[in-house]
Amino acid sequence: MKKLLIALLLAPPFWTFAQPQIYLHCGKLIDTERGQVHARQTVIVSGNRIASVQDGYVQPPADARLIDLTEHTVMPGLMDMHVHIEHQSNPKAYEERFRKNEADVAYDAAVYARRTLLAGFTVVRDLGGRGVNVALRNAINAGKAVGPRIFTAEKSIASTGGHADPTNGVRRDLMGDPGPKEGVVNGPDEARKAVRQRYKNGADLIKITATGGVLSVAKDGQGPQFTTEELKAIIETAHDYGMHVAAHAHGKEGMKRAILAGVTSIEHGTLMDDELIELMKKHGTWYVPTISAGKFVAEKAKTPGYFPAPVVPKALAIGPQIQQTFAKAYRAGVKIAFGTDSGVSPHGQNAREFAYMVEAGMPPMEAIRAATLHAATLLGQTQHLGSIAEGKLADIVAVKGDPLEQIDLLMQMSFVMKDGKIYKINGKETLPH
Ligand SMILES: [Zn+2]
Repeated sequence: MKKLLIALLLAPPFWTFAQPQIYLHCGKLIDTERGQVHARQTVIVSGNRIASVQDGYVQPPADARLIDLTEHTVMPGLMDMHVHIEHQSNPKAYEERFRKNEADVAYDAAVYARRTLLAGFTVVRDLGGRGVNVALRNAINAGKAVGPRIFTAEKSIASTGGHADPTNGVRRDLMGDPGPKEGVVNGPDEARKAVRQRYKNGADLIKITATGGVLSVAKDGQGPQFTTEELKAIIETAHDYGMHVAAHAHGKEGMKRAILAGVTSIEHGTLMDDELIELMKKHGTWYVPTISAGKFVAEKAKTPGYFPAPVVPKALAIGPQIQQTFAKAYRAGVKIAFGTDSGVSPHGQNAREFAYMVEAGMPPMEAIRAATLHAATLLGQTQHLGSIAEGKLADIVAVKGDPLEQIDLLMQMSFVMKDGKIYKINGKETLPH
């Protein structure tokens, strides 16, 4: 009886028997664990998992489906560690905050999520919105909406007037005084309360704005915005709930305090100097560069009226620097995970970041590893994600040709599978089946 019970527990769930297997014949397969490419491989997908990876083109049994990717380079689903899935910047974005209800935001977010998945990004880390992100994650997981797997911070945590204070620049009588419930904190007690509220609201992780930022309607783009006591309270509390902390940071002092307090990742990291690079390495802090966002805001700041006046000088000063900082940090050996800040730049163009990374001196294989294995490591998900290996979730994408020779091919995603379901084949969207 006991043996039977164990056998039942170890057996795959019954639906994996009901679902025929899918055989992928891969012309080239990127092995993100070893940083190698293998020619002529067969990946066998059973249900939502990878059943095995075999040398050569293994012929499928009669009831299995064969997908011919012999002209393609196949890799794990791409993972973007910094997006804002609810929004996309445009000249009307600031007034839209006063016009759009949550339901409007939800319909927008569903479009952005679909675009992101079809661009080959099967996982995103959403670093702040207004709570629709949690509902969207749940809807996607339940099969009610199409999109990537979402790990979300729900609402970013800021201090009063800080980068993620939602009432910055608003008329006084509408400004109010948002508190920890809305993610605006002053002092360690409020900081702890804000983290617990995010947990209660369904966040997977915590995002803080450790320094000023570009797109907030506020003068400062880089000064520190939390005390060390507040940072420690946030990080300790987040860890109590099994959540990691991502810190938006441009300026040196705020970045330094965040690294020393123990954040998991620094986002943007614009003014990271040699001292901070050493500190990042010493503490094992991840760097998520978001070169795309820097380039996008620097370009749009030249269009009169695209951004409110206080944003323009910050965009021009901070935007162009991120790529150089990334180059320096990479050469020095800082741990880098791929991130774009899509939502600032348009959703669905996430793969543009690869070209910027390669342009700055990172080999294509390393850029792809930053968006797969290393991103999975940052999320603590290497058991399920980040490489094509037996037992992992079947998140698999492919492009025609070889992106290791021509990196911008990643902008033309040909094949997308997430959780064993095919969403795109030969560059065309398919209904999942
Ligand atoms: Zn961001």
